[in-house]
Amino acid sequence: MKYALVTGGSRGIGRAVCVRLAEEGYTLLINYKSNETEAQKTLELVRQKGTDGVLLKFDVADKKQVDEVLGGWIDSNKDKTIEVLVNNAGIRQDVLLMWMTEEQWKSVLGSSLDGFYHVTRLVINGMLVKRYGRVVNVVSLSGLKGMPGQTNYSAAKAGMIGATKALAQEVARRGVTVNAVAPGFIKTDMTQDLKEADLKSLIPMQRFGEAEEVADAVVFLASKRASYITGEVININGGLYS
Ligand code: NAP
Repeated sequence: MKYALVTGGSRGIGRAVCVRLAEEGYTLLINYKSNETEAQKTLELVRQKGTDGVLLKFDVADKKQVDEVLGGWIDSNKDKTIEVLVNNAGIRQDVLLMWMTEEQWKSVLGSSLDGFYHVTRLVINGMLVKRYGRVVNVVSLSGLKGMPGQTNYSAAKAGMIGATKALAQEVARRGVTVNAVAPGFIKTDMTQDLKEADLKSLIPMQRFGEAEEVADAVVFLASKRASYITGEVININGGLYS
């Protein structure tokens, strides 16, 4: 069985990625932070594709939880390897820097940048030993362009982009690739407070994207077909920024 771990797999882009990876025959490790009901729904959708999955509840920002839950799964499944890792978990806490609390800064960096470190550190070793692996990081347009009101989120995603490029060079010789996708406005719970009608005029394609349109790119980067692509960031934003 081939295993794929998706952080933040309970909803939105992470769920769409889980479903597409299930179509590719992967058994899913579906991480979530608190939303058990939605995580169960993802698992059902994965099973409908004819494969299976395991729910792993942990906060990617919390090293202790990651070590206990994910580290525990790895230790008790030594015969299995995680071939694909999608670092997708993330949150927004938008506010101008002058009003930003330390909690708003730390929680956003924690769920994206620290989460990348805590999870990837545990998974990369198995990939290096097997001389095959795919890491895909879900970053954002904000990490490339910088968005006002999102210094925390832009910093977190820009940090992940730097980490993607550095790690790609560290592990390239062992058949492991590390890439990122940078979505623009995608219709998920994260953007439900944004008005598509007002914002779509800014987007050349005149619409928000669908989670499945991000998942398709993630799954390509996670496939054997993307064997000579590493350290790359793919924009998925309807032409908003390139
Ligand atoms: P979403 O619908 O709000 O879903 C977020 C997912 O991340 C949920 O599964 C949530 O778990 C999980 N999560 C959040 N914090 C976590 C933590 N600390 N530990 C573990 N899991 C955590 O968001 P989305 O739109 O699908 O976003 C997915 C990724 O795409 C994020 O990294 C986001 O920054 C990025 N992105 C999104 C957009 C967009 O327009 N939607 C654009 C650019 C980038 P629970 O269900 O348990 O809460």
